[in-house]
This record gives sequence, C-alpha cells and structure tokens, in this order.
Amino acid sequence: MSKIMEKLNMIGRKVDIITEGYTKDQIEQNIEHFIDDEKEILSSCCGYEPMGELHYDNESKEVEMVGLCSKCKDHADFEEV
Ligand SMILES: [Zn+2]
Repeated sequence: MSKIMEKLNMIGRKVDIITEGYTKDQIEQNIEHFIDDEKEILSSCCGYEPMGELHYDNESKEVEMVGLCSKCKDHADFEEV
C-alpha cells in the first residue's frame, strides 16, 4: 500500500470508492482534493459527529461504520450524508 493510500485510510475514507477511475499519479497530484472532499459522517441516533475513531465493518457486503456518538456517548451506526 502506498503512502497516499495509507494517508487516506488514516482519515477513514473508503479508498477504493473515492479513487475509482483515477490513476495513482492523479491521486498523488490531487491528494488535497481527495482529502478535502470528505463527506460528513453523522450518527444514526442523534445526527451528531462521531467521537474518536470510526470502525469500518467490511465483513458484510454493506459497509457499516460503528463508533461513539458525540451527543449520547453511546455506540452508534454512522452514515455519510
Ligand atoms: Zn446519539
């Protein structure tokens, strides 16, 4: 895995989706674009941002994000909006 991919992984992006159709060179030249293009990720319970790190569950076909809701401080599913 390249440094760029590691960086994207660190900020929690689904790299294979956002980089689809781009060459590695294009990604490296436009890394800021990929980072700045981040969608908001909000909890399904309160609609608040996650507290701490999100964990991706890739075992099922649908990608789920699980983390702590910053409002109710409970475990919650998160979705991109
Ligand atoms: Zn909540």
